[in-house]
Amino acid sequence: MKKVHVEEMFERLSAINPAPETELDFINPYTLLVAVVLSAQATDVGVNKATGPLFAIADTPEQMVALGEDRVREMIKTIGLYRNKAKNVIALSQQLIEQHGSAVPRDRAALEALPGVGRKTANVVLNCAFGEPTIAVDTHIFRVGNRTGLAPGKTPLDVEKKLLKAVPARFKQHAHHWLILHGRYVCKARKPACPDCAIRDLCAYKDKTRAAA
Ligand code: SF4
Repeated sequence: MKKVHVEEMFERLSAINPAPETELDFINPYTLLVAVVLSAQATDVGVNKATGPLFAIADTPEQMVALGEDRVREMIKTIGLYRNKAKNVIALSQQLIEQHGSAVPRDRAALEALPGVGRKTANVVLNCAFGEPTIAVDTHIFRVGNRTGLAPGKTPLDVEKKLLKAVPARFKQHAHHWLILHGRYVCKARKPACPDCAIRDLCAYKDKTRAAA
């Protein structure tokens, strides 16, 4: 995509939603980290249903460890892969207490060293909790990056690297959310809403959907 079109694309996405936020509910950097770990292969709405009651009684690593793996597992059992996730939540909480003074580190390597935390989760935490201009590539951003021609790539890391190069500095902070929301609600996986899409004329996707006759 041409540079001028990338500018225009983000101008339009930012006009639609000037201050986008994650749809995951959280109270502090720690609960954001836990929510993102729980959100792998699950919907934000499903995660929020479970974390509401969970965070009401445990919003620090100490409280989570005191709650214990069995209780955490019970409280998140509506979320996919909950057994493993409960294990990771307790283990990462322990690691935060032992190695980081119970605080969430503002450091990619330290975040990725936590149980259950990969590059995508680290990017979300760095962006949403600390305001860093990182872009976490999930399934929605991967699709939008490829379809539009903004950041074509075979792997999420390819797409992330291309986005970091292509997105103008002034849009980097919120690019992650604009692209996720665009993918989730407009450029949907099965049937993108191309006739209603604000960036239709800038998008390179060859199989754009048409308005019903
Ligand atoms: S025109 Fe269609 S394919 Fe392109 S970004 Fe919009 S919804 Fe997605």
